[in-house]
Amino acid sequence: MRRQDKSGHRLPSFAGYLSKVFDFRRLAADLRDARTDPDFSPQSVFLAVFHGFVFRLRSFQQLQADLSQPAFQHWIGAPRALSDDVLRYSLCGFDLAGLEQMLVHVNRTLKRNKAFDEGRVQGRIVAALDGIEVLSSYSRHCDSCLQRRVTFTDPEGRSEERIQYYHRAVGCQIISSPVKPFLAWEWLQPGEGEDTAALRLLRRIPEQYGSRFFDILLLDSLYAQKPALQLTQQIGWDVVITFKQERRDLYQSAMGLFQARPADLQFEQRHDGRLYQVQLWQTEGVAFSQDYPQPMRVVRTEEAVTSNRRRGDQTVTETTQHAWMWITTLDARTFPGQQIWSLGHARWKNENNGWNDLTQNWALKHGFLHACNHRPKVSSESGGSQAVPNRGLAAVVLILCLAFVLSSAFAILHSKLFRLYHPSLLEIGRQLYRSLWQLQPPIRAPA
Ligand SMILES: [Zn+2]
Repeated sequence: MRRQDKSGHRLPSFAGYLSKVFDFRRLAADLRDARTDPDFSPQSVFLAVFHGFVFRLRSFQQLQADLSQPAFQHWIGAPRALSDDVLRYSLCGFDLAGLEQMLVHVNRTLKRNKAFDEGRVQGRIVAALDGIEVLSSYSRHCDSCLQRRVTFTDPEGRSEERIQYYHRAVGCQIISSPVKPFLAWEWLQPGEGEDTAALRLLRRIPEQYGSRFFDILLLDSLYAQKPALQLTQQIGWDVVITFKQERRDLYQSAMGLFQARPADLQFEQRHDGRLYQVQLWQTEGVAFSQDYPQPMRVVRTEEAVTSNRRRGDQTVTETTQHAWMWITTLDARTFPGQQIWSLGHARWKNENNGWNDLTQNWALKHGFLHACNHRPKVSSESGGSQAVPNRGLAAVVLILCLAFVLSSAFAILHSKLFRLYHPSLLEIGRQLYRSLWQLQPPIRAPA
């Protein structure tokens, strides 16, 4: 191994991988925003924010401070320091279609290169659909904020109601493979439910990726309404739905059936230092609902989960009881009960929870560019000019998804150091950051 490798992962090696496998710099050169004749290209703005995420910087302020360094400016093709203000102004009017196409291209390339083959369940690729609230505020708000009323009780016991503004999105992520990219995001529009946004997202995925990009979709019963289930059936995706009591007809008929008999299956499994002792019941051919009488398979478990916890200097063993129910289109011959149990829990495992990861380790919830009024203007139909709709938050989240998938693909699929020494993905981000400062500053021709 070459000597320089011992100091960790280096930026030129990361850039080389991205260009060779994903044609990354050329795609970045095609990105556009709403500014006219800007000093800094949209490509430089994109590369600045992309690397900010790859380096795991926590804020735009920190990114701006680092962008005062000539090595960073040179790396992203900026003629001089790029201010926070330029980043915001460009991103608020960024062309989202270009970023989406880039994400689709990256994910399709990964699939073609068989990156999703490892971890398949009976040969099937598994994706999960879920929602996340990205920010909330009582004061700052924009045209596309969602609103809700929140009631407070003051110290004298009087209640007061205030309006809270927030943004929420639904995302779809591949979770069976070691590299777990987000395929697409859909933002909730004011006044609409999460199931409507989810339906829009599910319709979009086959258009962008082709229908069989993945095979099994895990989702919460919140999204499992008739139109979504008809759509998944039409596309050919199997579903595993985590089911709660709110759909009482099916829940109660299944419960009535199961309570009258002993468990069909009992097993134990250890995962993440916990012991799961599971009793499982299952039945096929239960109609999903009155308006969607499609026969489904129902799997129910009662689980005792035992783990050791530290309490002061003592280790205490605790056992908690849990009950779960899933509805699935997967047949019992190919996917035995234990496999449905495992798929049903897959969404809740930490390593599969991209939403958690983006929040905790990738600064997702920092409300970048929310309610930013400093935006490029375009001429309106009435002859005046008006600010472009604010696309900043959506643009930043797409860039974050690109940094998320490309950083982990680089580490997991490409890096020998990762296979040998298993550094964390966070540490690799820091190594790339440190290597930026070791790059030779550009040699400028004398004026
Ligand atoms: Zn808003």
